[in-house]
This record gives sequence, structure tokens and C-alpha cells, in this order.
Amino acid sequence: MKKSVIGVVPLVDYEKESWWMLPGYMEGILEAGGFPVMLPLTENSGVIDQILESVDGLLLTGGQDVSPEFYGEERLDCCKECSPERDRMEDLLLKGALQKDLPVLGICRGIQFLNAALGGTLYQDIPGQYETGVTHCQRPPYDVPAHEVELTEGGPLHRLLGCGRLPVNSYHHQAVKKLAPPLKVMAVSEDGLTEGVYMPDRRFVWAVQWHPEFSLHSDPCSGRIFQAFVQACSGGRAKRD
Ligand code: MN
Repeated sequence: MKKSVIGVVPLVDYEKESWWMLPGYMEGILEAGGFPVMLPLTENSGVIDQILESVDGLLLTGGQDVSPEFYGEERLDCCKECSPERDRMEDLLLKGALQKDLPVLGICRGIQFLNAALGGTLYQDIPGQYETGVTHCQRPPYDVPAHEVELTEGGPLHRLLGCGRLPVNSYHHQAVKKLAPPLKVMAVSEDGLTEGVYMPDRRFVWAVQWHPEFSLHSDPCSGRIFQAFVQACSGGRAKRD
């Protein structure tokens, strides 16, 4: 059987004028049996349509802050570099993916983007806007845990991993503030921040605030998230083939 094709949203480096990729995103998909393909940065609706016809799932990668204008807030000084191009591209991709019920996995910026795109808001900077003693922006190495999350009883991650608490790495300065109405929480950090969400009325729309792609080889649970995602993508492919 052909492997499921998973469109991976490109990382953007404005200084180097490049689109690039971290190996962990690709390896997570490869090791789970999928076929990752890095997408071009584009807002061309014809290309977006063809991407949506060609892939079995979408990975929304980490990256720049989501533009506050995107979720209807004024930009604060503590907000860092944004990528309006990625906001617009991912908005088109996500709308199409949801319409087709394609599986979507969001990581870091991915959870923030998903929440913003579906009507939620974000903390533009955790240190400035959310009182906590928890380190959410750890120093390297990134494959070791920085804090724990509590997995919501009966939520998809809890069902997948079978544990109530999960140690995770943490490399983010923004987080979900107001949860988007179509989303439900599936993981919460010790200090109450939303770290995992899913969309109950879709086959597989999951997002996490931590980085399973960094801890792929040090933490078996990270690989299992990619496996669940690729398996969902294969389910759709089996129906079409
Ligand atoms: Mn965190």
C-alpha cells in the first residue's frame, strides 16, 4: 500500500530569505510510516486546492508568532516576529482540510494558529501576560522535559497514551488564551495553560503546545502522537484507494 502523503507547512526564515525544515517533523512522519512532503509557501488558491487534493493530512509546524490582527487583537510590544504569509497560507489550507475532514496535526505555533483560526485568542507573551512559576521557554537541549501536562480524562491523548500526566518539553512564549469554540482541551500544564486541543467533530484534528519532534528519540510518547496522526491519514487513504 502506498504511504500516506502528509503536507508539511514550511518554516520561514526572513533573514536568510529561505523556506526550510527541521528534521524531527519529517522523521516523526517517516518513522510512523508516512510520506512527508514540505510545501511551498504560497497563497495561490489553485496551488492550495491542488495541495488539498494531493495530501492525506497536514502538519502545521512551529514558527513565528501568529499575527495578533489575525485574532482581532492589537499587537503588543512583547509580540515577536510574525509571518503573515504563513497565517494566510495556513488559513486557506486549514479551511480546505476541515471541509474535506483531512487529518491535521498542529505543533507549537500549530496549536496557536489552529486556535486563532477557529475563533480563539492568544497570550502574546506568557512572561508578560500570565503569572506562572513554570518554565515554558526552556534552554537546549530540547529533548528533555521542562514541565508536566495533565491529560484530560477520556480525551484522545489520554486514550492514546493511557496515562494521566505526561512530562513534556516546552519552547514557546505564547499560548492559547480564549479557547476557540470548536476545540476541546486535551492537555493542561501544571499552571493551567492549555497545551493540547482537539476538534471533536473531526476525524483527527489535534494540536499540542510542546515539541514531540524534538523528543522523538528520547520519549516514546512523542512517536506515538505521530503514529496516531499517520494512522488517521492512512484511514482516509484506504477509503479512497
Ligand atoms: Mn509549555
